[in-house]
Amino acid sequence: MTQDAIEMIDVDKWFGDFQVLKGINLNVKPGDRVVICGPSGSGKSTVVRCINRLEAHQKGVIKIGGVVQDGSAAALEAIRSEVGMVFQQFNLFPHLSVMENLVLGPMKARGMTRKDAEVRAMKYLERVRIPEQALKRPSQLSGGQQQRVAIARSLCMEPKVMLFDEPTSALDPEMISEVLDVIVELAEEGMTMVVVTHEMGFARKVADQMVFMDKGEIVETGTPEDFFNAPKSERTQAFLKQIL
Ligand code: ADP
Ligand code: MG
Repeated sequence: MTQDAIEMIDVDKWFGDFQVLKGINLNVKPGDRVVICGPSGSGKSTVVRCINRLEAHQKGVIKIGGVVQDGSAAALEAIRSEVGMVFQQFNLFPHLSVMENLVLGPMKARGMTRKDAEVRAMKYLERVRIPEQALKRPSQLSGGQQQRVAIARSLCMEPKVMLFDEPTSALDPEMISEVLDVIVELAEEGMTMVVVTHEMGFARKVADQMVFMDKGEIVETGTPEDFFNAPKSERTQAFLKQIL
């Protein structure tokens, strides 16, 4: 049996008195491409932030590559070696060049030599099609280019799973497709991924599992065909009507 890349079993989370996640169950197998959508405030970001332990959950079980996430050093190490994350805001170091942003993780966390880390960085900059920007600062790049640098930076750690939290929401419309195209290519190459997005054309293209969240719950899951053509829940229907 193949090990799930990500397993969430009955996960609850509170912020103070406010229950933000209610009984979340999610299984992501190697090679799966899961797209999460839902209204603002429904808990989508909290789900992905719990997966890589930027937030701690209080009840239920989260496993990454079979390792139970209990906050221990071994569990955090499993996350570091398995999971990459790309945020809505690119979170690049503004005072460092693109190349320095990319070599930092592999050198510090993986103990790679600068030379090896630079070779790897160029490989992934070519993959996101901006090798010529290596020596620039993030502020000299467009938003779409900065987000592609952020994707390359994650890939430099060679994660088994990539988490994307609304990766195109901060971009001008004309830059959205250059970022989505890169994510589609990663999907086609077999990368396991969880993507929070409202880009439904993209979702139809890459998802093999759609997840709809509302008010801290997973309301509906399904294949893109079923999800878009025959949504079961009224809440899903209302949401799709609004955004399609
Ligand atoms: P989404 O990504 O679907 O918009 P979030 O996961 O960001 O939703 O947030 C879900 C709910 O949790 C929202 O009501 C939000 O205000 C609340 N929330 C998010 N982060 C925090 C926090 N650090 N402290 C308190 N409440 C939070
Ligand atoms: Mg969010």
